Amino acid sequence: MNKQLRKAVIAGNWKMNKTPTETAGLIGQLKSAVQNPGCEVVICTPFTSLPCAVDATKGSCLHVGAENVHFEASGAFTGEISAPMLTDLGVEYVIVGHSERRQYFAETDQTVNKRTLAALAAGLKVIVCVGESLGQREEGVTEELVRLQVKIALQGVTAEALKNVIIAYEPVWAIGTGRTATADQAQEVCAAIRRVVGELYGQPAADGLTVQYGGSMNAGNAAELLSKPDVDGGLIGGASLKADAFAAIVEAAGR
Ligand code: PEP
Repeated sequence: MNKQLRKAVIAGNWKMNKTPTETAGLIGQLKSAVQNPGCEVVICTPFTSLPCAVDATKGSCLHVGAENVHFEASGAFTGEISAPMLTDLGVEYVIVGHSERRQYFAETDQTVNKRTLAALAAGLKVIVCVGESLGQREEGVTEELVRLQVKIALQGVTAEALKNVIIAYEPVWAIGTGRTATADQAQEVCAAIRRVVGELYGQPAADGLTVQYGGSMNAGNAAELLSKPDVDGGLIGGASLKADAFAAIVEAAGR
């Protein structure tokens, strides 16, 4: 399938950066830097910045996402945020299963699945993160591992709901390290993700799936990564905090 027919999505993951006041400032810069993009542009902010981000992006081309969500709608889960709380704010997207959540907050493939189902049920679009560690790559199990992560994350997700899922391939060794996967490595795993989704849902669904690459993507390497046939967008950490760098990646995706 022609890649141009799929939705290209560039999403910024701000991680634990920016106060609400700083958020308003950065969104102001982004609104000037990113205009008429040829792709969907999402900024995922800390929970505390979401109301401000939703407000500041109104009427612009920027969409707002959260960085995590709990799998229950409400209840005795002190400190957690549910999917209906996000949609009520006007949030459209959520990142699920980021490797930092897997590493530091005991996220498992099973909780990634539960969060994905809860987010989809509430009407959110979900960016599901998968990817191998350096050790796993060196052991030669990258494809098997990523296939497993995708299969478990999507358990119980209907073909209709899959239309609201993006899968982000994020090799753990490339996140925040400045060490990017080569465009060929990114392509190889993004294609494998599309293959497993094809096995689960059929080829048309796989052809329509947006698969992102994430891991030290920046203004200098984005064009090459995004030129690959199965890389439909990017999940951007560090470079999403600088308006010019983020805008350059958006531009590369729109070409
Ligand atoms: C991320 O946090 O998802 C990410 C890809 O970070 P960075 O771009 O900084 O590697």
